[in-house]
Amino acid sequence: MKDLDEALALVLDGLEPLEGEREQLQAAAGRVLTAPVASAVDLPPFDRSAMDGFAVRAADVAVGAPLTVLGDAAAGGPLAGAVDAGTAVRISTGAEIPRGADAVLRVEDADVSNGSVTPTAGVVSGLHVRFRGEDVHAGDVLAQRGDVLTLTRLSSLASAGVGEVSVVRRPRLHVVVTGSELLPAGAPPEPGKIYESNGLMVRLMAARAGASVIDHGVVVDDPRLTRGVLGDGLDGDVLVVSGGVSVGPHDHVKPVLEALGVEEVFWRVRIKPGKPLWFGRRGRTLVFGLPGNPLSAIVGMAVFIQPALRRLAGELGAAPVFERGRLAEQAGPSDGRTTFLISRFERADDGVLVAHPTERQGSHMTGALGSSDGFAIAPHGSGPLPAGTEVDLLRLG
Ligand code: AMP
Ligand code: MG
Repeated sequence: MKDLDEALALVLDGLEPLEGEREQLQAAAGRVLTAPVASAVDLPPFDRSAMDGFAVRAADVAVGAPLTVLGDAAAGGPLAGAVDAGTAVRISTGAEIPRGADAVLRVEDADVSNGSVTPTAGVVSGLHVRFRGEDVHAGDVLAQRGDVLTLTRLSSLASAGVGEVSVVRRPRLHVVVTGSELLPAGAPPEPGKIYESNGLMVRLMAARAGASVIDHGVVVDDPRLTRGVLGDGLDGDVLVVSGGVSVGPHDHVKPVLEALGVEEVFWRVRIKPGKPLWFGRRGRTLVFGLPGNPLSAIVGMAVFIQPALRRLAGELGAAPVFERGRLAEQAGPSDGRTTFLISRFERADDGVLVAHPTERQGSHMTGALGSSDGFAIAPHGSGPLPAGTEVDLLRLG
């Protein structure tokens, strides 16, 4: 049996980002660039008005001295005629400054009457003009290889005329749920059957970690059928199998994976819930056997599989996401394992998250899970932790 850190290192160490692919900006959201991205244009691309008003020659403007209005420059419209001595062009915010003009008189600072405009305030050269290239020059690098395409970056790239970028492709994750006892959510109850929830969690948690998911549904506990489905599931980057990795007579997953040439890296981790977690590899494909108990499956997804997916998706050094908090009451690891205590979180007056472990704890306690926000983690070997101890929290949003 592996300690948590040892098992995590066996999964994550040496995991390299997958190759890049070209994507439209929207499809690239949240993903990692494989190449720098440069602006296609100067920004602004031309001298533009920052205000609604009149394009003028600053030197001509005197309070009370009318200027003849030659025409109208609308945003996106063709360039209006040149402004010369004693003239002005009506201009909208964002429109190109006409030739000859070097400033904008705001509409609020002008009296307008048939065909002329009389300034009520002076202007200086450059007033209310956004100059070409004052923000970005064509060719300036706006985002680097390895950067995550956050919303701020995407907005900036769209403004810079970038339509497509190269990003790490999404890991392809196959999910197979095993168990003859499983009913789909919402089906009528049947004797001896329970409702299936792990498939839903694996699909949602994998998608949140950047994977594209191929769902194989539920397979009954039959070695031949299991072999067929798992064989199909091995052509992706990651295969996740729920259930069937224990030692019962109906647990077929391990021998089937072995027969399919998947090499075991470890089986069993010193965590609770989640101990029977199985991990192996075939070539570059990572294979996880999640224990069937719903809480064990969730912990396995959050602690092992989501970080692995994020690394494959290009996030170097991705690791389980823990927040710091403190225990509201005494708790500790049990069975000498790092223990994930189902907990409700509450923000204390000092801003720190406080974890209240629920009364019921156990890998099958899905009711308790429903009144919780995640888990507080009592590390293996720590012994009993008094109320107020700082601990890691795993939030499941
Ligand atoms: P297993 O790992 O297959 O031995 O399953 C361990 C326990 O989890 C058993 O009580 C199963 O009935 C239950 N279980 C297995 N798969 C699921 C699932 N997909 N959803 C909910 N419970 C499950
Ligand atoms: Mg089973």
